[in-house]
Amino acid sequence: MSDFVLVLNAGSSSLKYSLVDAVTGHEAASGTVQQIGEPSGVLNHSAPSGEQRSERPFVNHADALQAVMDAFTDHGPSLADVTLRAVGHRVVHGGARFSVPVLIDDALVEAVQSLVPLAPLHNPANLEGIATARALFPDLPQVAVFDTAFHQTLPPHAYTYAVPLSLREEHQIRRYGFHGTSYSFVAAEAARVLGRPLSDLNLIVLHLGNGASATAIERGRSVDTSMGISPLEGLVMGTRSGDVDPALHAHLHRQLGWSIDDVDRVLNRESGLRGLSGYNDFRDVDRWRQFGDEGPMLAFDVFCYRIRKYVGAYYAVLGTVDAVVFTAGVGENAASMRAAALSGLERLGIAVDGERNDQRSDEPWLISPEGSEVAVLVVQTNEEWEIARQAMAVVGSAG
Ligand code: ADP
Repeated sequence: MSDFVLVLNAGSSSLKYSLVDAVTGHEAASGTVQQIGEPSGVLNHSAPSGEQRSERPFVNHADALQAVMDAFTDHGPSLADVTLRAVGHRVVHGGARFSVPVLIDDALVEAVQSLVPLAPLHNPANLEGIATARALFPDLPQVAVFDTAFHQTLPPHAYTYAVPLSLREEHQIRRYGFHGTSYSFVAAEAARVLGRPLSDLNLIVLHLGNGASATAIERGRSVDTSMGISPLEGLVMGTRSGDVDPALHAHLHRQLGWSIDDVDRVLNRESGLRGLSGYNDFRDVDRWRQFGDEGPMLAFDVFCYRIRKYVGAYYAVLGTVDAVVFTAGVGENAASMRAAALSGLERLGIAVDGERNDQRSDEPWLISPEGSEVAVLVVQTNEEWEIARQAMAVVGSAG
């Protein structure tokens, strides 16, 4: 019988869940509860019996998770019929303390709590999800899988910001990086597709979803990544600016009288593709730029140029590169972006074959020309499966 893991990703007003076979990655059911704590909420449950949508208020995460359990009971698959081995929680910030997934106990909860200053929006929501699931499944092992863990291999010269010692030592100011579960999964997939051990490969992986980041992976270890102490740094994203001059904050404060919260909100929620074009969804940007709309054309160019800059930087970091890998919603689907982002890099051995790039597949595929020095791949990420696998690894070794 298969080992199933219930994967939970608790946001401030949402709860995503997925019932995953940790061995095959098969998703038996999945869904989301949205607008938790608001006057009207919605639960979408997707199972072999079909898609169920129900609307009602969910007062808190406990109420939402109970509704999810009811959805399993009412619409299947019945949790009583599967071997549920663990609950796997996505936890955004593990600070410098967590480089591997961890079995959840009171001490772990306290440790995640102590990291709230580093992730004031995300970690409290993740803790809410953990408390709720522990109450509902007191006998089931629960595992925290940290988004930052994969990047704990960064060397000091890559993770250190050039700021005073007191900030670095007393306030843990440094680069942490995110999207770690995705990088872990995608790097292993790339090695599988290339038919070589990951420990032999140097990869530049581009995770381009609503959030976007780039990572240099040397022989399986993250050695640099574009997101920093928070997910704001680096590439242009759906609504986040990515890199700006850090003096921009002071400038906006002095010139426009903006508070630090105003700056934070604008750079995180009103910038990126949205700020440049009015659209945060890459499909809209791509559609309207083809009609010659200026905002979307500029958004596309800035997005692709920033990626190219990071590819060049990480090429220099790695010295030799075996593959460039595109993943996540935009990376897996936007062929025009892939071609534009890697254009002009032939001297580095990086090229995209037009016909291969325009193909679509549910399996990873190669988009570089035959015989290219550097393979360019599209790989479908699967963070839920990775969390399930990591949770089972912890539970297996604990048992
Ligand atoms: P998240 O970061 O929330 O996990 P995803 O990895 O699912 O997000 O990526 C979501 C984004 O992917 C969407 O906002 C959209 O911009 C982009 N996307 C999805 N499908 C396509 C497509 N066919 N073409 C271009 N972009 C797409």
